[in-house]
This record gives sequence, structure tokens and C-alpha cells, in this order.
Amino acid sequence: MVPFVLISVSLVGGATGLLFALESFREKERRAPWAGLSAAMLFFLAGMLSWGFPALRWGIFFIYGVGILFLAVLFIPAPPRSKAPAGTARCRVGAIHRFDERDIVFARNRSLPPGSDPYRLYYSKYPERESGDALRRSKGGPVGSIGLIDKGFRPNVAMIEACFEMPVIFGPHAVKPHDGKRVPENLDPVHAAARIKEFAVHLGADLAGICRVNPEWAYSHRGEIFFDNWKDWGKPIPEPLPFAVVIAVEMDRELVGAAPHTPTLLESAKNYAKGAYITTILARWFSGMGFSAAAQHSRHYDLNLVPLAIDAGLGELGRFGFLITDRFGPRVRLFAVTTDMPLAPDAPADFGVDSFCRHCLKCADACPSRAIPAGKKTIVNGIEKWRIDPERCFDFWAKVGTDCSICMGICPFSRPHRGFHRLARRMIRHSRVARATFPALDNGIYGKRWHPRKVPAWVDYRDCTLRSG
Ligand code: SF4
Ligand code: SF4
Repeated sequence: MVPFVLISVSLVGGATGLLFALESFREKERRAPWAGLSAAMLFFLAGMLSWGFPALRWGIFFIYGVGILFLAVLFIPAPPRSKAPAGTARCRVGAIHRFDERDIVFARNRSLPPGSDPYRLYYSKYPERESGDALRRSKGGPVGSIGLIDKGFRPNVAMIEACFEMPVIFGPHAVKPHDGKRVPENLDPVHAAARIKEFAVHLGADLAGICRVNPEWAYSHRGEIFFDNWKDWGKPIPEPLPFAVVIAVEMDRELVGAAPHTPTLLESAKNYAKGAYITTILARWFSGMGFSAAAQHSRHYDLNLVPLAIDAGLGELGRFGFLITDRFGPRVRLFAVTTDMPLAPDAPADFGVDSFCRHCLKCADACPSRAIPAGKKTIVNGIEKWRIDPERCFDFWAKVGTDCSICMGICPFSRPHRGFHRLARRMIRHSRVARATFPALDNGIYGKRWHPRKVPAWVDYRDCTLRSG
């Protein structure tokens, strides 16, 4: 009986190791295929030893027993967390003040031209920010000179620039106030919400959710000036419309895998174009049904989209400040449409990210600018969270001329939603032991260091065949 059990476990374990190696090889992982192959060889070796050397059987039986016990423990469901369904309310610990858009590093670089009135006004209030911002501006702003790390490889840089032009075209059409002429359609909020999400997906969104807008996530004053509307700089931003349709667009894993090289910025730029297109159409559709609407994309933001996405049930907040979705992890870009059309909100999600991040430091360890904290959460503006240092992060962007995205690429939740990864996510969702042990296991199998992966030939930044002569 014992030899039969040992041989069976060895065969199943060995086959699983081989399958894992194959999957990891297809995913272009460097280290994981070897981990899978080594596990498979160990299982097959243990099987052969237990067959040929009866004296070793009880030792091998004991080791297998411990392994099977560990697997069984992973299936013990974690008790439900008391604050789980609360969305952003989960991390609120005090009064929240609306964030001033003028303080965003991008706004300071783009919308404070030296010598202008906004420049004088802003730096008389924050003199300590002037020299750092001036240095950043002299390097070309937070993204610096695009594609610097790839020596400005023109085919990729020109693709990026082309994509970045799209939100500029859509930007002036972002806001569609109700003109008072059309009677709003009398729609059932549940039915309308379902129809809107389907249409958003049809237009190209990969995830869509709906929430009631918490006005605390809206910016307090206008700080980004994209279309020469200088009279708006510093003006209070009105309370946002009461409902939001939040969409997420997946970032391609292969291109994010090239981080911090140009393919990753290309993927961001492409998605900014896609998000502007989808949200502008949705806003115009809502307006056509008699409601006010505003598209929220990279050339028109009234509010911070990460908390909005959490409240709309799209995911949870990770250590590095990005949203982590169940299906794509942090490999998404977020957009929204705010509206006064009554819509049934979605429930916030809880699949164990918060407690997984407490045990995982992968992004903090890999961040080249040390912008992600490795310690505990702190309280920032009434919210308990890990506080990343945006200025350090953007200074690294300027060094490489891309949006870096190493933290996004290395996060275990970034892996494809299939096979072993899907199984691991199910365990993380349900098991406290999985959340506590998988980060260390992940480091053992995949390693802690980031290595950019090979990209498809059409976007290969090392490819010189395009240049003749
Ligand atoms: S984008 Fe890069 S520099 Fe910024 S936090 Fe992530 S890893 Fe760090
Ligand atoms: S890398 Fe780890 S700590 Fe960082 S966000 Fe992802 S799961 Fe959380």
C-alpha cells in the first residue's frame, strides 16, 4: 500500500512540476521553469528511491505527509473581515480634505510656466518646491526626454507620441452638461447600470464598475491647464456628479514586462488613448439620453480615480498605490465617466490583496528610486495606507524617459489570470495561510529581482534593422 501511495504522489507531483515549468517557460519567466523542472525531478527521484530502497519509504512518506498537510491547510477558509465590504471606508481613519490639483507634480511641471501669474502665486505659497520643480522642468518634466533609456529609439518614441496625441483631441469634448432641452430618460438604475457596463466592454473596456461618487475624492482646485484655459487655474472645482462608471483597460503583459523600457510607456500611452475614446463616447451617450456627464481621462480629471475604482468594486489598493484587480492585477489603466444618471452601484471587492501586501515587499524591494515604503501603513489625509513618494518616483521616470512600471511588472498579481496563477489567486482570496506564505514562496520560485523580458519584434527597442545604411 505504502509504495503504491508514494509512487502515485511522486507521479502527480512530478507531472505538476513539469506542467508548471512549461507554463512558466511560455510566460518567458527566467527562473520559474527551472524551479518547476527541479521539483519534477525531485518527485521522480523520490518515486524511484521509494521503489528501489524500502528503508527510505517512511522518510519519504513523512515528507509527503507534511506537504499534503500544508496543501490541506491552504483550503481552510479565512474568517470574513469585518470591514471587507466597505471599499475605501475600510481605510478611513479621520477627516479627509479634497486634494488640490495644483499640487500634483505633473500639474506643477505642465501648468506653471516660469514668469506667469500662476507660477508666482504657487511658489510664493510653497517656496520649498521651486528649485526641485525647476530642475525637473529643465529635464523635460516627470517623463523627461521620452525614451531616453532606449536612446530615443525613434520608431517606439514616435508611436508613443502618436498615442499621447489622442486624449488631446478628445479632451475639449470631455464635459457634456445637461442642456435642459432633452427630458432625461426614465431608466431603471439596475437595468441602466447593466446596459452601460456591457456597452463599455463592447467599446473596449476590460472591466467596468459603478459607484456613488464620494465628493472627498474630487480635486478641490483646478491645477492642470491643457487647452489654454488659464482663467480656470486655481478655481474651485465644483462637486462632482453623483454617480461614476469606472472602467479599467488591461495593460499588455508582454509590453509591461519590458519595464522600464519604451514598450511599457507605449502600452500606457495606447491605453490613455483608448480610455479617452471610450469615456468620451459614454459621456456623449449619457448626454444624448438627457443627463449631464464628464469623461475622466488623462486630459480631463476632476477626481482621483483609484479610490473611485475601489468603491466601484474593481479592486483593492496595493502597497505601491496602484489599484490591484482580481483579473489583471495592477496591469490596468483607469478611466471614468461621472454622471447624474441614477445607477445601481456595485459592491466593493475583497480578495485578500491588503493582507497579501502586508507580507510581500516585492515592489518596494524592486523600486529603483525607493519610492515605495517597506514598512507599515501611515495616515495620510485621514486615510491609512502605504504612502509612496511621488517625487522620487517621477525623478526616476525623468532619468529613463518612460513611466518605469517596474513595480507593476514585478507584482505577483500581474501574472496572467490562468492555470497555476488562477489557482493561487483563489487560495489567496480564501486562505489566510496562503496570504502569509505565498509571498515568500513567490520570491523562491520567481526571484526578487526585476529583469526586463524580451518583447515582440515589432516593438523591440534594440532592433536596428529599420535603419538602412
Ligand atoms: S514606477 Fe518605478 S520608480 Fe515609480 S514607484 Fe514604481 S518601481 Fe518605483
Ligand atoms: S508587489 Fe507585493 S507588496 Fe507590492 S503591491 Fe504587489 S502584492 Fe503588494
